[in-house]
Amino acid sequence: MPAAKEKQEHKFPLTALKGISDKRAALFADMGVYDQIDLLFFYPRGYENWADFTEIADIKNSGEYTFYAQIARAPRLNRKGKLSWLNVVLLAGNETVEATFFNQSWLMKEFHPGQKYIFHGKVEMRGYRRSIVNPAFVDPAKADSLGLLPIYSLRKGLNQKLIRQATAEVIASGLVAKLTDPVPAELRQKYGLSTLEFALAKIHESQNQHELHLAQTRLAFDEIYLMRAALETGQGVGAELKAPALRSTPEAAAGLDKLRRGLPFMLTRSQVEAINDVLRDLRKDKPMNRLLQGDVGSGKTMVALFAAAYTAYAGAQAVLMAPTSILAEQHWQTFQRYLLPQGLTCDLLVGATKARDRREILDRCASGECKVLIGTHALIQDEIKFHNLALTITDEQHRFGVKQRARLGSGAGDSNLVPHRLNMSATPIPRSLALIFFNDLELSVMRELPSGRKEVITRTIHSQALDKAYQVVRRELEAGGQAYVICPLIEESASLDLDSAEETYLKLKHNIFPDYQVAILHGQMKAEQKDAIMSAFVAGDISILVSTTVVEVGVDNPNATVMLVMSAERFGLAQLHQLRGRVGRGERQSYCFLVSEAQGDAARERLQALVQLSDGFALAEEDLRQRGPGDYLGTRQSGLPAFHFLDINEDQLLISQAKESLQIIQSWPVDQRNYWQQRQQQALAERYPDLSQSLN
Ligand code: ADP
Ligand code: MG
Repeated sequence: MPAAKEKQEHKFPLTALKGISDKRAALFADMGVYDQIDLLFFYPRGYENWADFTEIADIKNSGEYTFYAQIARAPRLNRKGKLSWLNVVLLAGNETVEATFFNQSWLMKEFHPGQKYIFHGKVEMRGYRRSIVNPAFVDPAKADSLGLLPIYSLRKGLNQKLIRQATAEVIASGLVAKLTDPVPAELRQKYGLSTLEFALAKIHESQNQHELHLAQTRLAFDEIYLMRAALETGQGVGAELKAPALRSTPEAAAGLDKLRRGLPFMLTRSQVEAINDVLRDLRKDKPMNRLLQGDVGSGKTMVALFAAAYTAYAGAQAVLMAPTSILAEQHWQTFQRYLLPQGLTCDLLVGATKARDRREILDRCASGECKVLIGTHALIQDEIKFHNLALTITDEQHRFGVKQRARLGSGAGDSNLVPHRLNMSATPIPRSLALIFFNDLELSVMRELPSGRKEVITRTIHSQALDKAYQVVRRELEAGGQAYVICPLIEESASLDLDSAEETYLKLKHNIFPDYQVAILHGQMKAEQKDAIMSAFVAGDISILVSTTVVEVGVDNPNATVMLVMSAERFGLAQLHQLRGRVGRGERQSYCFLVSEAQGDAARERLQALVQLSDGFALAEEDLRQRGPGDYLGTRQSGLPAFHFLDINEDQLLISQAKESLQIIQSWPVDQRNYWQQRQQQALAERYPDLSQSLN
């Protein structure tokens, strides 16, 4: 993941530290620690508390303690084969702890009766007897310098002592002071935050809980403060911008009414509410920035259609960006079906659009003849000139980067106006997280699925038991259904990726389902080829579609009732949920088999979450818990870490303080503002080198 940093030259190499050889440095690199700065940001997972002493007499429950004691009498050494253990009675007042030291026979010479130490470890209570195994101990003369000893999650070949020493050396070297503190002193004082220097030193070496708490609070603040700063770059200052207010007219009302009556179904209540939310926003001159969340299959396309239609009736233009050309094409067909009869022109612009068609489309956009432009990334490759663009819609917004979304519609015509923005996502973002990631974000949530939908029955299945899944596939095909077989993209090698899908395809076609039409779809195919296959699948001419994840987003074939996901452990939860959403779109009961060889607990846990949860919101929480917030930012590839200190539910105060800080800096005179914004970017680059690259 942290590719950017791997390759770069390090100003502060780990190997300059005592005891760190090239070989050990490589072990650190495995953990994402490439240089001394990374080491500072490599936070302990916990602490051994040597700061709070307990009298032995007060130890009444099992637990971790630090206590003074003397050696009561000469220790006893026992041996059995290779094993040796030393029994030592530790005494304070009249109370004792029975200590056992395994394989440390040399302590016989160390422990003399009457000698005093400070011990630390887990005390076990059995009745009134206290015992402890392999406690750590130090000379009481050092009591003053004891504090909270950090404990790190380490790889084999590294140990706590080594990393503690290394961090101590880095802290003592003064490197911390060279890092950029992105928070102005007056804001630190306002919110009672420590300096960065203090926080980074104390997170590794604090004397007591109070210091540690200060350090943790400051670092939690930075996590949200810098994240917001990263997101706000390039977003402009919301309050000053205006959008075209699209006034409602009788024609618009009549048009929408006609549109609604032309649908083959009733809109769900969720859809009606979401459409109303959007229309209300479009009538204002405050730019809309609305996130429409609806689980896969909840019918978000209809909301996009009504929003675009309203915009068109109001005489303005809309653009809709989808993450794949198949999906863009499907949207285009839907939009054309409903809008063309009303005299509203829709155009499709994808990577494969021929140069001549492209020129014509661009002309129509510039003249205002094209009312709704639908497409893929091709829409942001260079600035498209619009006559009066008033609305941009991003489908599956998490698939696009922050900057990509911001660029959509940048050639909006009137330079004083920005278009309204509607972001649609099937990856539900917990509200607390949404508020962090989007400025002034309004949320519409569609919780209701069109009626008649049944929950997809999901099972995990070992790759050796595939036959069982094939039986279900056969049964579904015989009943007139269709099947998806999804093979993972193998990122390291496009050709490997192709092989695995290709292999599965050949096996299914020749050995398992020779009596059915099997087809393959993968990312390296030409767009026309892909479209032809998708259309054939939607038309029912293909029974089994073997595909890499290109079908992941949005494609709609209600007749598909079963899906097999091969090597399911390679996918993220959100992605699997999306994939699964391709089935269960019709009235028939649908099935999803997650095929996996993985025995690992983490993989199991992930897949099990899918078996148990069908609600995208619950899955999103679970995904957030398991993988951190990178997916939601559209910067997953960037290696953005999960919040380490910030708890998005508990730390509401810090979150609002961080936001307020950024606003305060915004209001400062331009020189000062620029200075701090620059420091924010510097701090981002120091802490998240990959993130700051992907944002720029
Ligand atoms: P998503 O929210 O996943 O983008 P779509 O917009 O693709 O969902 O809609 C999924 C399917 O549901 C499509 O086939 C669409 O035509 C259908 N659909 C949308 N709204 C309704 C509705 N109110 N009643 C029945 N079917 C609907
Ligand atoms: Mg969709």
